[in-house]
Amino acid sequence: LRFYLKRVEALEPQLHALLRLNPRAEEEARAVEQRLAQGEELPLAGVPVVLKDNLCTRGLETTCASRILEHFVPPYDATVVERLREAGAVILAKANMDEFAMGSSTEFSAFGPTRNPWDLQRVPGGSSGGSAAAVASGMAPLALGSDTGGSVRQPAAFCGVYGFKPTYGRVSRYGLVACASSLDQVGPFARTVADLALLSDRICGHDPRDSTSLKAEPGFTRALGERPALTVGVVRESVQAGNSPGVLAALENFRRVLEAEGVRFVEVSLPALEYALATYYIAMTAEVSSNLARYDGTLYGLRVAGQDVTDTMRKTRSAGFGPEAKRRILMGTFALSAGYYDAYYGKALRARARLKADFEQAFAHADVLLTPTSPFPAFKLGAKTDDPLSMYLSDIDTVAVNLVGLPGLSLPAGYEEGLPVGMQLIAPPLQDERLFSLAQIFE
Ligand code: GLN
Repeated sequence: LRFYLKRVEALEPQLHALLRLNPRAEEEARAVEQRLAQGEELPLAGVPVVLKDNLCTRGLETTCASRILEHFVPPYDATVVERLREAGAVILAKANMDEFAMGSSTEFSAFGPTRNPWDLQRVPGGSSGGSAAAVASGMAPLALGSDTGGSVRQPAAFCGVYGFKPTYGRVSRYGLVACASSLDQVGPFARTVADLALLSDRICGHDPRDSTSLKAEPGFTRALGERPALTVGVVRESVQAGNSPGVLAALENFRRVLEAEGVRFVEVSLPALEYALATYYIAMTAEVSSNLARYDGTLYGLRVAGQDVTDTMRKTRSAGFGPEAKRRILMGTFALSAGYYDAYYGKALRARARLKADFEQAFAHADVLLTPTSPFPAFKLGAKTDDPLSMYLSDIDTVAVNLVGLPGLSLPAGYEEGLPVGMQLIAPPLQDERLFSLAQIFE
């Protein structure tokens, strides 16, 4: 813990990856020492972990990087936080993020952007950019983020670390502040596959407090010793779509390395992938508009008093939400409004079903699918903040995985002009462990 606190002191002023340190970290580490002395077996004894600031921590402010939740102190721990504590981990800090996990660069934080440790003029990706930058810079060995449309995998790729989005339902969402509930999943960051497995083994598992939680026991560390004969399906549509030269080179290299290790490659097609981004931005904004209705100045966080109830809500929400949160609430409310429901939301649901069928088809020919994690490496700060559509295009390779609830893993796969490039592996539902077996061969 002291080692990492020193790293934080040296690096945090330039990176701004963290929103606040846990003031009780040393005290909590000492309590872990006590438990060890009493003979408890703690798989993460004393290991510092950084948490995205949308994971509720008892007694420690949780803001989702939003003014509307500034000073909000949860009365309970999220299930994943509880599990980490049980395993002996020490919560080091809460990480910066795009407000309410909406964004691809961490520039939509109400508390200022995080910078990419590889190049301070560039973004770390998002929305879990603080968690990714903290692990990449060695301010923490492990971190948790959340992934609604790529928010663990894309920043992992931009920062040159491993990031994993489990099958929907494998990690409890209890205590994760809701963004788009049918897509949200907590996911880990680490610098090695073994560390990623260690953390995944802790956070996955059934939780009766989340009605979408699945009864599947995690076996990530176990999977590392396994060498199953796997066929990898290269997704034609995502290889053809405007990738930068370094990304294509990394894809080719990945294939060469694994072929030399006896892994078979085939080409697969996902025809409905061209509708994934449009489908995602209808489905996710619809859910966001509903989930964010609870921030009205009565129960949580900010309250700007007005003349009456409606005026108080209007003033609180106008002052409390940033520009991207407002844009998504407006889009989602529009998509769900009477008369438009079938044209937008209903159509998005049908597209989602087609995408699912496409994946099922592809998995008939391959055990794991391969795409880049992002078509390009980290971009410059400010490059996309005024152009929402170009920001949304950063998610082109990741959103389909959430729409279908699949597990996806981003691994560091090369460099383009000194910036890290990531590849994405996708498995069928509940076959998450397969991704780790494969990633370890490349590592
Ligand atoms: N970048 C995507 C978005 O803005 C994904 C966000 C996420 O996964 N939380 O919606």
